Amino acid sequence: MMIGGATARVPAKINLHLGVGPLRDDGFHELSTLFCALGMHDDVTVRPAEELTVTVTGENRRAVPSDASNLAARAVVALADRIGRSPDVSITIDKHIPVAGGMAGGSADAAGALIAAARLWRVDRDQVDLHEIAAELGSDVPFSLTGGAALGTGRGEKLLPVLHRGEFHWVLAVSGTGLSTPDVYRELDRLRAAGDRTTDAGTARPDGLMVAIASGDVRAVAPLLHNDLQPAALSLRPLLRRTLRAGTEAGALAGIVSGSGPTCAFLCADAAAAVDVAAELSGSGVAKAVRTASGPVAGARLVPH
Ligand code: ATP
Repeated sequence: MMIGGATARVPAKINLHLGVGPLRDDGFHELSTLFCALGMHDDVTVRPAEELTVTVTGENRRAVPSDASNLAARAVVALADRIGRSPDVSITIDKHIPVAGGMAGGSADAAGALIAAARLWRVDRDQVDLHEIAAELGSDVPFSLTGGAALGTGRGEKLLPVLHRGEFHWVLAVSGTGLSTPDVYRELDRLRAAGDRTTDAGTARPDGLMVAIASGDVRAVAPLLHNDLQPAALSLRPLLRRTLRAGTEAGALAGIVSGSGPTCAFLCADAAAAVDVAAELSGSGVAKAVRTASGPVAGARLVPH
């Protein structure tokens, strides 16, 4: 039977803990991070076509490249190379994850394209290791495949699942303009070269946070959220301080810059509190868009057509 196309749904991520160690010889930093997949998704559809094309739809389609540099296109090319076939497919991305927002939107699309193309081409996943291809595509792509909650080491591509109980409720304050991840790491290196790094977690494992997540106790989790990249993101985008303050003033238990930013993520006591915080933040004008999302949720998965 010929398959007409395959669609994957892939979650965004936030980092509940992001510890940044020293710069490695390969230009990456050694990380110790606790990823959490959130219920905010992109859908990636792959169909047979005469040549490789990318079409982007959805509320966040702007600023997403529709040429071969799109991470979903690169993922399809990498899988096609690996199995020795041509990558002639049309890729459609329905984009809801903020772009350049520190929520791994590009990585999500790469992970979605990998599992959708693997399905379309009937790739035997016992023979072809998608996780290995994912790691070559980007540090966050393996986590987009696995989802849930996971400890990431190396540059984030080495994953260990983390026990978690229940759901945590978040409000996301999305900025109108993104921040470049390499720029934020460079700013961190500059700040570190200039002096004080006493607040850095580095590569220490976030044991206390892992215990708190396993217990499902949101009030134990809130004070342990940590991001070594936050000072760098705030240095490049000072207005984010106001956003973070507005979230806690609106009743969130804690707020943090998500990954390299500029999205700010606010942890709330429960689903109702998240709706209240989102309503108040929307009115405060500190963010272009305000969303609620809960997690951990599953990673990239195929959805029926
Ligand atoms: P991370 O959290 O993994 O550091 P991010 O969420 O900050 O990443 P992305 O949304 O992945 O950032 O986008 C980073 C850049 O990658 C964008 O500015 C865009 O030019 C490029 N890009 C390539 N492919 C995609 C894609 N499918 N979706 C979004 N951006 C893409």
